[in-house]
Amino acid sequence: MAFDAPTSRTRINRLPKRGDYSRETIYGILDAAFLCHVGFVVEGQPYVIPTGYGRAGDTLYLHGSAASRMLRTLAGGVDICVTVTLLDGIVLARSAFNHSMNYRSVVMLGRATPVEGDAEKTEALRVVSEQIVPGRWEQVRKPSVQELKATAVLALPIAEASAKIRTGPPVDEEEDYALDVWAGVLPLAMKTGAPVPDPRLDPKCAKVPEYLERARRKQS
Ligand SMILES: Cc1cc2nc3c(=O)[nH]c(=O)nc-3n(C[C@H](O)[C@H](O)[C@H](O)COP(=O)(O)OP(=O)(O)OC[C@H]3O[C@@H](n4cnc5c(N)ncnc54)[C@H](O)[C@@H]3O)c2cc1C
Repeated sequence: MAFDAPTSRTRINRLPKRGDYSRETIYGILDAAFLCHVGFVVEGQPYVIPTGYGRAGDTLYLHGSAASRMLRTLAGGVDICVTVTLLDGIVLARSAFNHSMNYRSVVMLGRATPVEGDAEKTEALRVVSEQIVPGRWEQVRKPSVQELKATAVLALPIAEASAKIRTGPPVDEEEDYALDVWAGVLPLAMKTGAPVPDPRLDPKCAKVPEYLERARRKQS
């Protein structure tokens, strides 16, 4: 692929001006999130399962219990659709019809393959961990051989993808701008709260790590 131009499957039909197929835009959205929804079909029934991810280069990594149906199904090389959504605001128009949302989203199509080998799996898990809380991996105990065995890791090549972005105020019918209705945008953002220490935290570990403070500052 296929960056900068859609394929027949990733071409956005509705409001195509909001579409963007550049690597820069797609990776910018992927790197600002860590939660995706994975769509796949089992025996004719579609499922869309939320899960975490990490990106390194042109690869998206998913992980989970080796017993997970999602991971077992994906490892079989089935067609999947992975979606990432960042919700930036609720767009309140003067008419019910023109209400909308401000967002940045990515849709990726493809087939994932299992990551094999302890070193390769560990590196992919580091990528996922760093995507969620940068700096955490360095501090924690790394997965044991047994834990790696219990964990399935999958790699999806980011090869067929689209981004769609809406920004800005509502767009109303010209005659509606005179209506006596408040209109505008209610901004939304995912925010961290203050870290809550584990009740069993050893007092010698009481100081909140700098990387968590950094993560909090980034989101405020
Ligand atoms: C937070 C949020 C709220 C939304 N609310 C609504 C709503 O209430 N009603 C509504 O109709 N639409 C909504 N959308 C837009 C919706 O995601 C689709 O873009 C829309 O349904 C039009 O799809 P289509 O027929 O053009 O594309 P389809 O024919 O369904 O899709 C063709 C291809 O376009 C690409 N594509 C489509 N949508 C997106 C997307 N959002 N991001 C990245 N790639 C995409 C995919 O590659 C897909 O394979 C919302 C989107 C977001 C992120």
